[in-house]
Amino acid sequence: MRETEGLNSSFEKLMVFGAAESMSITEWKDVPVELLLRILSLVDDQTVIVASGVCHGWRDAISWGLTRLSLSWCKRSMNDLVLSLAPKFTKLQALGLRQDTPQLHDDAVEAIAAHCHELQELDLSKSFRLTDRSLYALAVGCPELVKLNISGCTGFSDTALGYLTGCCRKLKTLNLCGCVRTATDRALKAIGYNCHQMQSLNLGWCDRVGDEGVKSLAYGCPNLRALDLCGCVLITDDSVVALANNCLHLRSLGLYFCQNITDRAMYSLAQSRVKNKHDVWASMKSRYEEEGLTNLNISQCTALTPPAVQALCDSFPDLHTCPGRHSLIISGCLNLTSVHCACASMQAHRAPHAMPHLAH
Ligand SMILES: [Zn+2]
Repeated sequence: MRETEGLNSSFEKLMVFGAAESMSITEWKDVPVELLLRILSLVDDQTVIVASGVCHGWRDAISWGLTRLSLSWCKRSMNDLVLSLAPKFTKLQALGLRQDTPQLHDDAVEAIAAHCHELQELDLSKSFRLTDRSLYALAVGCPELVKLNISGCTGFSDTALGYLTGCCRKLKTLNLCGCVRTATDRALKAIGYNCHQMQSLNLGWCDRVGDEGVKSLAYGCPNLRALDLCGCVLITDDSVVALANNCLHLRSLGLYFCQNITDRAMYSLAQSRVKNKHDVWASMKSRYEEEGLTNLNISQCTALTPPAVQALCDSFPDLHTCPGRHSLIISGCLNLTSVHCACASMQAHRAPHAMPHLAH
């Protein structure tokens, strides 16, 4: 809606300008840059690329003004497209290159790193063919990276990722889901050492991750809000205790299938709430109520018992077991069926009043 209003006002300006200068638009190249960019912000990325080929004027305007682009729709020649576009679109800040079937090779990522130095967000998920060459190029060429998704990329070493974190220290969101070779304790130590602004980290199914790595993260990344450790089968309570003690802004934690996790981990998380409440700074924050766990996945953590999980549920009122909200995920833990969120007890209180109505 706002975009359309902006477009209208651009048209009006164009009319005033056109009348004042007694100038008319006779060719495509006469469309003012501002208006062209405004129009292109409303169309899909394929159209933008076609438009960049209309004439030199349009190509220059687009290369100057285009900051976000996704080529994830491209099913076959993504590599060639990136090679030809990267030198033109040097102002890109966000680039989506997610693939269903792997298409990208290192030369395409090297072209991005060589030309798009302002890049802040890059999605390379499922780029099976990429090797360490890509990570080294990005480390050198794209130091502004804030958000990087390399989930499902199996060709990167932990050494290359460690090098990248040393250069891209502004990283806040990193998706390493399924990067078994990449996400080792060594790599996590590098993240903890270099990326103090990290807020969201996905380590799902990185089954080489151990307590040493997670502890380094907990100490080095106190701003962590979301951490997915689903399927990190080696981790124990020590990891969770370190997170509970150091990452007081943690909102979402995935522990699916972490079967070494016991009640001790649950009590330490519940305790972190109390600790946070006594934090002087926390009491001064007006948005204090927005702190605390809102999502926790402990399904298949079969060692947990109801009292510990209930204590956690009581500490964090945003954790729900009720249908619809379901933010405390306990499926597969048959012994936890007695754990309930606050909604359940409220319903239980209401039930007697509801009865007479039901009788009708
Ligand atoms: Zn609920």
